[in-house]
Amino acid sequence: MFVNDCLNVNEKGHLTIGGCDTVELAEKYGTPLYVLDENTIRDTCRSYVNSFKKYYNGNGMPLYASKTLSCKEMCRIANEENLGLDVVSGGEIYTAVQADFPMEKVHFHGNNKTAEEIRFALDSKVGKFVVDNLYELELLNEIAKEKGVVANISFRIKPGVDAHTHNFIRTGQIDSKFGFALETGEAFEAVKKALTYDNVALKELHCHIGSQIFDIEPFVTAAEIMLDFMGKIKDELNVVITELNLGGGFGIMYTEDDEPVPYENYMEKVSEAVKAKAQEHNLPVPYIYIEPGRSIVGEAGITLYTVGGKKIIPDVRTYVSVDGGMTDNIRYALYQSAYTVVNASKADKEATEIVTVAGKCCESGDLVQEHTKIAEVEVGDTLAVLSTGAYNYSMASNYNRIPRPAMVMVNNGESRVIIKRESYEDLVRNDL
Ligand SMILES: *Cc1c(COP(=O)(O)O)cnc(C)c1O
Repeated sequence: MFVNDCLNVNEKGHLTIGGCDTVELAEKYGTPLYVLDENTIRDTCRSYVNSFKKYYNGNGMPLYASKTLSCKEMCRIANEENLGLDVVSGGEIYTAVQADFPMEKVHFHGNNKTAEEIRFALDSKVGKFVVDNLYELELLNEIAKEKGVVANISFRIKPGVDAHTHNFIRTGQIDSKFGFALETGEAFEAVKKALTYDNVALKELHCHIGSQIFDIEPFVTAAEIMLDFMGKIKDELNVVITELNLGGGFGIMYTEDDEPVPYENYMEKVSEAVKAKAQEHNLPVPYIYIEPGRSIVGEAGITLYTVGGKKIIPDVRTYVSVDGGMTDNIRYALYQSAYTVVNASKADKEATEIVTVAGKCCESGDLVQEHTKIAEVEVGDTLAVLSTGAYNYSMASNYNRIPRPAMVMVNNGESRVIIKRESYEDLVRNDL
């Protein structure tokens, strides 16, 4: 009935998530409210972990891409489900430390890690630095030398595969701010350079080809290109790199038009390609990391709003105003992202009305969704926007001094707050 398995409709005609009535959640915790279903998150984590066991002798580890939704509870769940963590800033490292995450299972990404962040990461015993450029390599080597340690590193490589949504292109793709290009020889030079430094140890190569990808083929192509590069490094430099990180990007369902493949199929296909290429180049079968983000939390999350007004403009459109908007979900304003909107108060009724759901910020572009079909909306109704678990809270802002919403975790009919709603006092905390 819904794109997300954790959703249902109860006898009152209300939308439920994880066995909880969303209208009751809205009353109890207030709106806007982010709600996450714990079983959906854990099931997805397990399907990734199990796919390594089933198709790759368990010789690998999924890392949760925490930029998707970074908070202590997500770090704890990732750890309990035997995932590592991918972080992109000092703030995400700090969150992991505060959640007692085993830091040796953390990969530190980013195209401009500051000296301060590198120091903090080394002090926090982050497991691996995914080095983006030569300045960073040199800086990391220097700081590691100062501290008398050797940092384990990976290189972010542009494999020349660019995949977004339904298709992918194999091009130069040199025009990306992330990583080292293969075809210019830049990546190879970086490997040679790293071998001359004493305080970095090259362990792994990394690539990440895009996001919200539905095909497995571009991942397979990227994996093959990376193995070819590992073969070149072995043949020409006599160095065997034993770990390969293939990034994230697995697509989820926002609307019925999206058709993700089961996540298991990914390891099935990629492991075949990796094993074949390893044999071709006479390389050991590498340890593999993948970095799913969106697919772990995206479909597990919904956002609840209360309708405060309805503006019918004859022959133009009907605006329905909700008590949140671009401050809690900027993705429509940013990339016209499609979402499914449900009238949670009337989830048993047919969708008959076409409306534009508008936020409450002082921007005409502050829309949650345009021309969406929904059961007739009345002021006071609870609306649910589906698949908002990823890149919503993590991109939230305080524009118009609107406090960030609370986040509630539901599990088999129980609910608990995992992130408190911001208060007005929080908003002025740093004002002098
Ligand atoms: C964003 C990102 C991910 C996660 O991507 P999803 O599309 O959310 O799965 C993984 N790795 C890197 C390096 C990223 O930048």
